[in-house]
This record gives sequence, structure tokens and C-alpha cells, in this order.
Amino acid sequence: MAGDPGTNSGPEADTGPEAGVGPAMDVAFFASWIEEAARAVSTDRERLTALDAAIGDADHGSNLDRGFTAVAHALGTADPATPGALLTLVGTTLIRKVGGASGPLYGTFFREAGRALGDDAQVSLARLHAALEAGLAGVRALGSAAEGDKTMVDALAPAVRALEEAVRDDGEPSDRADRAKVAGAIGAAASAARAGAGATIPLQAHKGRASYLGPRSVGHEDPGAASTALILAALHAVATR
Ligand code: ADP
Ligand code: MG
Repeated sequence: MAGDPGTNSGPEADTGPEAGVGPAMDVAFFASWIEEAARAVSTDRERLTALDAAIGDADHGSNLDRGFTAVAHALGTADPATPGALLTLVGTTLIRKVGGASGPLYGTFFREAGRALGDDAQVSLARLHAALEAGLAGVRALGSAAEGDKTMVDALAPAVRALEEAVRDDGEPSDRADRAKVAGAIGAAASAARAGAGATIPLQAHKGRASYLGPRSVGHEDPGAASTALILAALHAVATR
């Protein structure tokens, strides 16, 4: 971190939409992501539950809404100091508050992502990619779903790959990446997640509750993939502010 925060894009000094540098992916940025995700989950709660009604037990929207409501409360109370601590708290809260498959899976995702960030106060694109990749690895280790099994992994894995490509094209990562670059990279990840969720429709489920339906799981979007797309769209919305 060679830059002088006073002359560049300190979060207090330079948050206007016209600013060319930033947003710094600091703890406030991650807090905004999770707030936005909670809002999106609440808004789309019935849609997620309807998807789960088709191939599961009609609780995905309410599960996640309950979890993210608890997360918002926990963040307001604990006020974590770093992005890593914040994501870890998100994960721990989701594991504690959300039953079913998705609570432990999303909980692990955020906890592993948080752990990967360590004590960083500012997160570069490359570090964001590493964190999401660690989260995905945690989901895979816990649920042992591969891509194509019609789960959240079908949205998450292409998103992580899209971010990886953006980081690779970026050359040298800096702590304060260009605003457009950050938004573009995260936008690519969010688009990949949405495409991945849509691509679960023709698939037969091989993991989770939907797999009990066998071929009858074909023709419906996976609820967990849909919520993953929503959570990454929330990240993109915050990155474009
Ligand atoms: P439950 O299935 O216990 O009711 P939810 O309805 O909240 O839990 O979440 C269902 C979602 O969890 C599925 O749509 C799928 O995306 C995800 N899921 C289920 N099992 C797995 C698994 N083994 N690996 C990854 N994701 C999974
Ligand atoms: Mg369910």
C-alpha cells in the first residue's frame, strides 16, 4: 500500500459517482454488499421459495431471509473491523440461523472467504477472487457437488472463473483498483452466476433434496443457484455505486 490515502480515494473523501478511483473494497464496502444481499433476498423471497417448491420443500426463500435478517442484526451489533472479520461473522451467523442444506453451505462459503482475507483492510480484485475461490472450495468440500449437479455450485463456479479471468487480464493488482475495472470484473462474475443459474433449468439434480425427484427435477431453475446469482448481483450493485 504505497499510496497516500489523503490524496487518492479515501472512503470519506471520495465517494461520489464521478470519482475515477475506488471504491476501496474496505469493510464498509463489504458491509454494503451484505446489506444489499439481505435486501435482495428479502425482495425475492417468494420467488426463491417458489423455485424450491418446484423441486424441494419450499423453504429456500424463507431460510435465506431469516438468515440474512440475523446477519444484518449481528453486523449492527458487532461492527467488525475488517472485511475478513465481517465475512466470517456472516458465515457463522448463517450456520447458526439457517437450517437445511443452504445454511451450512452458504455459512461455509462466507466463513472460508472471510478467512482467506485475513486481516486485510483493503481488498484488491485479486484478493477478492482468492476469497471467493476459497469460499467455493469450502462449499465443494462440504457438499461434494460438482458443476452440473444442479446446485449453487453451478452459479458460483462460473462466477469465480469470470473473476479469475478479469484479474488475469488486469495485470498487476493494486489495493485501489480503478472503479470501472472493479465494477467490470464483478459485473462479469455476476453475469456468469446468472447464466449459470439459468443453465441449471435443463439439468437433473444429483445433490440435495431435488435429487430425490430424479428426472422430474429437470425443467426448473435450482433455487440455490438462483440465490447465488442474487448475492453476486448485490455485490455488483454495490461496486457500481
Ligand atoms: P434444503 O434443501 O435443506 O431445504 P434450502 O432449500 O435452503 O435447503 O437450499 C436448497 C439449495 O441448496 C439447493 O437449491 C442447492 O442449490 C443447494 N444444495 C443442496 N445440496 C447441495 C450440495 N450438496 N452442494 C451444494 N449445494 C447444495
Ligand atoms: Mg428447501
